[in-house]
Amino acid sequence: MKHDALFSDGFEPPEEVRLLDTTLRDGEQAPGISMSPEQKAEIARTLDAAKVPFIEAGSACTGEGERRTIRRVTDLDLDATVTSFARGVRSDVDLALDCGVGGVTLVVPASDRHIEGKVGTSREAVIDRTAELVEYAKDHDLWVEVIGEDGSRADLDFLETLMAGAIDAGADRICYADTVGHASPHQAYEAVSRLAALGPTSTHTHDDLGLGMANALASVAAGADLVHATVNGVGERAGNVALEEVAIALSHCYGIETVDTTMLYDLAQLVSRATGVELPPNKAVIGQNAFAHESGIHTDGTLKDERMYEPYPPERVGRERRLVLGKHTGRAGARAALAEHGVEVDDEGLGEIVDRVKEIADRGKRVTDADLLAIAEEVRGESRDRRVELVDLTAASGSGTPTASVRLTVDGEERVASGVGSGPVDAAVSAVREALGSAANAHLESYHVDAITGGTDAVVTVEVTMSRDDDSVTVARSHADITHASVTAMVDALDRLLVSSVRAPVADD
Ligand SMILES: [Zn+2]
Repeated sequence: MKHDALFSDGFEPPEEVRLLDTTLRDGEQAPGISMSPEQKAEIARTLDAAKVPFIEAGSACTGEGERRTIRRVTDLDLDATVTSFARGVRSDVDLALDCGVGGVTLVVPASDRHIEGKVGTSREAVIDRTAELVEYAKDHDLWVEVIGEDGSRADLDFLETLMAGAIDAGADRICYADTVGHASPHQAYEAVSRLAALGPTSTHTHDDLGLGMANALASVAAGADLVHATVNGVGERAGNVALEEVAIALSHCYGIETVDTTMLYDLAQLVSRATGVELPPNKAVIGQNAFAHESGIHTDGTLKDERMYEPYPPERVGRERRLVLGKHTGRAGARAALAEHGVEVDDEGLGEIVDRVKEIADRGKRVTDADLLAIAEEVRGESRDRRVELVDLTAASGSGTPTASVRLTVDGEERVASGVGSGPVDAAVSAVREALGSAANAHLESYHVDAITGGTDAVVTVEVTMSRDDDSVTVARSHADITHASVTAMVDALDRLLVSSVRAPVADD
């Protein structure tokens, strides 16, 4: 059978595959996601900088607000072709034209469920209407891709006839749509093989069965040369196939380069911030753990040869390798982690440090940089003078502006400052910055809160990563009061950073 090629050496992908990003359209259709026009423009700019050739900026028929956003993207004058989603009606094409887009993804119903149940029309009428609209859009100089909605559940003979009509009418390309994430890779391969015989073919896959990626690759194997995807896989229900995964898989497995992969992590963080959807730790390419090593054997192997336990180096997607301390940490991993903070220990000391690290981890706690450094100091019998210490903290919020005041000692000298903010934590953090002056020029890289129990009396753990010049340090602190936990974590991180920075003077400004 033809589709056996998927699982044999017969895999012959097209030489060039391009990506269409639909984070701003399909991605935003995910439940609970809404991005501001500024955020969308920023995402579009970054996609363009990463050399993504097609950006679906929205759906012009949605409303005036959406059209303003699409215009904002078209006004950026990007290298990418900016498109709008358009339903199979002329007014949608007109609204897209009003936004100044270079193309439309014209969606027409392909399955009988959609033709009869949703649109209330007939197969013949869909074929005629599609050809008419393609001609109309081409007459207005648009790049036109025709998407057969719910194509994976359509009668394949009909889908082929519909798409042949679209190509005959002048469409630039046609698109296989697994709208509800229903297809198997074999079904996707078979359908796309038939469509690709008609003309340039795209693929649009969803992840409801966890097969979004497999179906995208099966489509490419069958001749599709444009893949629709969203950053971080955000999208309706289980989401779309993830742009970063398609890009790295095509590059790593088949040597097909699509975008500047070194920008993928920046893109992921940008979209995570804009959508409020956190990056899952175990997610390919973008997850916190994707290039983290904890296990003793893995860490030891990785220190001997970076590629030992990684398919590709993290730099390729704009990231860095991390060695994480925990119950599996061995001597090599602990030594490397200490060396990162400029601490050297002898063999005996190292053994004791590893035991203490495992002890903390066995109690179910994460071992942070600050924990490791504190252990090392104890084991080496060192006592160090803290440079920054929190004396007390008060924070008030309610119906007025949240305010906070802090009393700190810096190199033994007391400083008091107050601050306001969007909430008590924010107010307390600005008070700390005020008290420290330029010493607080440290950058807050990440801030993460976990509640240890589920009730309102929960103890919360706040973990911060702060950096200053080339140093970075992670500290976690727990307290029943989230403001207190946040401020102590931050003060302790700043204290660590100032100690390692060759006793830089703490300016009083
Ligand atoms: Zn979709």
